[in-house]
Amino acid sequence: MLIRFWGSRGSIPSPLSYRSVRSKLREALLAARGRQLETAEAIDAFIAQLPFSVGGTYGGNSSCVEIETDGGEYVLCDVGSGVREFGNALLAKHGPAKKSHFNVFLSHTHWDHIMGFPFFTPSYIPGNVIRIHGCHSASAMRDVFIRQQSNPCFPVDFRSLGATIEFVELEPGRTNEIDGLSVKAIRQNHPSDSYGFRFTRDGKSIVYSTDSEHKFDVLTESYPFVEFFRGADVLIFDAQYSLADQISVKEDWGHSSNMIAVELAQLARVKQLVMYHHEPMFDDKMIEKVLGETRRYAEIDGSPQKLIVSSAYDGLEIAV
Ligand SMILES: [Zn+2]
Ligand SMILES: [Zn+2]
Repeated sequence: MLIRFWGSRGSIPSPLSYRSVRSKLREALLAARGRQLETAEAIDAFIAQLPFSVGGTYGGNSSCVEIETDGGEYVLCDVGSGVREFGNALLAKHGPAKKSHFNVFLSHTHWDHIMGFPFFTPSYIPGNVIRIHGCHSASAMRDVFIRQQSNPCFPVDFRSLGATIEFVELEPGRTNEIDGLSVKAIRQNHPSDSYGFRFTRDGKSIVYSTDSEHKFDVLTESYPFVEFFRGADVLIFDAQYSLADQISVKEDWGHSSNMIAVELAQLARVKQLVMYHHEPMFDDKMIEKVLGETRRYAEIDGSPQKLIVSSAYDGLEIAV
């Protein structure tokens, strides 16, 4: 399996500003002083060793993750603004004539997780089939998608889209076989509920768990999420807040922190933790700083199996 992040930001898309681009350029040029950068290769090598917050960006699209399998269909978690780029990349690669099946796993219907759908070009093409799986009722999910694409907020009515679009209600705790993947869902603590998904294939597991608030006082072996995350190869986890935020002003807003992420991942013996759903207030430098702190915190644990910690960015690919 291959995980590809199309949208890593939480709450609202957060594109880079003019000022951010200028400040990255300035930092890179300052770092380049006195170096021999006469060839394209030398420049590429120089860019590659810059801090990611200078040479790259964590990105601005809201939640959308692709899981590539060889099952013949496309698998997506959430359809935030990142799904627009996924759809465009697909059309650029195959053209509109190739008809495809898409399986979307919807954590919940908050805006940042569905807002890309009106701009998902394959939904306009007859012959494509899109199945939106989720644990909210099929009619409730459908209703939200219809409302999102209704007058006067959007010019194209959801019901007039060319693709065949179906809503499939899944039951939490039950294993479903979908496109060669075993998929299980869990209910999460979030306003109006959200659901996490565990995908397993050929002994490898990926957990997508965003928009979920965990409190420190429930972190014991019997906490259901420890079992749900157990031994996952990759855990994609909502670490939107700093710990201070989570236990003070933003308590009960439905998100978690980087520290809780590490605690839970270590309890469940997860192999790789990917922090996700980044706070839109955080710039690239801040996300990089939080990543550094989280890695140091994860190293304190004395267990022989070291937890790999990374931060999602738009364009990140992880082979599982
Ligand atoms: Zn969200
Ligand atoms: Zn939410």
